[in-house]
Amino acid sequence: MEEVNNKRQGLEFSSAFEVREVGKIKSVQKFIVLALGLPSCVSGQMVEFSNGVKGLVIGFTEEEVQILVLGSAVDLKAGDEVYNKGEFLKLPVGKNFLGRIVNSLCEPQDGKGPIEPDDFYPVFRDVPGVMDRIPVDQTLETGTLSIDAIIPIAKGQRQLLIGDRLTGKTTVAVDAIISQKGKDVNCIYCCIGKTYSNLLKIVDILRDKGALDYTIIVSGIASTSVGEQYLAPYTAAMLGEYFMYNGKDALVIFDDLTRHAWVYRQISLLLGRAPGREAYPGDIFYIHSQLMERAGYLKPELGKGSMTFFPIVEIQQGDVTGYISTNIISMTDGQLYFSTPLFNKGFRPAIDLGLSVSRIGSKAQWPAMRAFSRTLRLEYLQYKELLQMTQLRATGLSKEAEASLKRGEAITQLLIQDKNQPVEMERQILWLFALNLGVLDNLSVAEIKKFKETFLEKVKEQEPEIISELRERKELTKEIAEKLRKCLQRYFEEV
Ligand code: ATP
Ligand code: MG
Repeated sequence: MEEVNNKRQGLEFSSAFEVREVGKIKSVQKFIVLALGLPSCVSGQMVEFSNGVKGLVIGFTEEEVQILVLGSAVDLKAGDEVYNKGEFLKLPVGKNFLGRIVNSLCEPQDGKGPIEPDDFYPVFRDVPGVMDRIPVDQTLETGTLSIDAIIPIAKGQRQLLIGDRLTGKTTVAVDAIISQKGKDVNCIYCCIGKTYSNLLKIVDILRDKGALDYTIIVSGIASTSVGEQYLAPYTAAMLGEYFMYNGKDALVIFDDLTRHAWVYRQISLLLGRAPGREAYPGDIFYIHSQLMERAGYLKPELGKGSMTFFPIVEIQQGDVTGYISTNIISMTDGQLYFSTPLFNKGFRPAIDLGLSVSRIGSKAQWPAMRAFSRTLRLEYLQYKELLQMTQLRATGLSKEAEASLKRGEAITQLLIQDKNQPVEMERQILWLFALNLGVLDNLSVAEIKKFKETFLEKVKEQEPEIISELRERKELTKEIAEKLRKCLQRYFEEV
């Protein structure tokens, strides 16, 4: 009866009516709307325009509210109404998002129908405090030997991937996703400002490798609105938080934050905020650190979930001293530096082991791996130095120098890896075990390649329990080492 009365009076609310504030659009400048009214809204709140498009309150002038349009601003015009329900931006999250492609507002983009959410989470969330976190103690297996052995990454760590264009940054990140298969780590790949075809390639690789089932793709590609591109990494972090706060592990890749910084610069300049260094606004540091702080490893009372971040930053001509790159280096726990010269020489993944660091990951490394990793980096760097010297003077090398060169060449052959073929930790340990015994030093490139491909299978045939024991104990016990030595002996007797 009440509803009928309401309709009769031309009112549209039913008995469950909602409170909202109504304002008016004063002007539309590309993707920014200036609105009048809305006296109670605060920064970070969500508003809705009369055509259903959403907006994010990002600032104020004395009279107007500055709203970033999260979608197309084409149909918005001065005089239109804008509604504020006093809500902060909350979006749907949940496990049903796995295997799907969504935009920054968590709306499906893959034509596979609606996604049933488990919950709604705020996009801009306060990060867990220091007391809610614990030190890292689990390793995140990336499937890339140079990383897992020398620059290990722990769950909950923030590791920057930095390098010039086309140096294999995305490939290493995607390989890390592929190698989470069967390891109960959910992945989120967030694409910012890249082309649609870039994104499609990645989706295809993930699908081929069976990695899409545990991955969410957040698409903030270049053809989406500026507002959506700005929001994309926060949405990705939020989708990861669902897993972290429910006691699971998540890996989030931001590809890439350079473009995110460009987008934010565009927004700030349009808002008339003063440009600072490299024309970026002063608060770009805050914008990125607020994001990076959301990674972490929670204490057991909170479920011991973790969220690992791989932000990617593109630089020019190997110069890491730019504003955005130095900022992000300072707010992450280490960086992988990708080098164009190494890439061109065929040393791929082109990670420069001299310039790359991981500040906390070694605490969580498998003891079996840690035993090798100390000497590996040293031997490799010494080899590089020696190589430079011998280019000047190739004759009359001492015996030790020659041995060093041979060892270095064997290490190089182990570190070279094909794209999208991540190597499991057990296999990596077997390789390094053989390397340490010196049996790879006199092999040719082809022989090492064959060894890399076949040795694990041989061990599995002969001593199947070693491999599972290695994964369980994460340690090279005396018995395992002894059995492995025998397997090696047999392998080299056969070939
Ligand atoms: P962009 O600057 O475009 O984002 P990027 O640094 O992310 O580039 P990728 O797109 O990962 O680089 O790789 C660049 C090219 O190098 C691709 O064609 C890729 O297939 C190739 N590539 C990357 N890693 C390897 C590898 N380990 N072995 C062989 N080819 C590789
Ligand atoms: Mg890339």
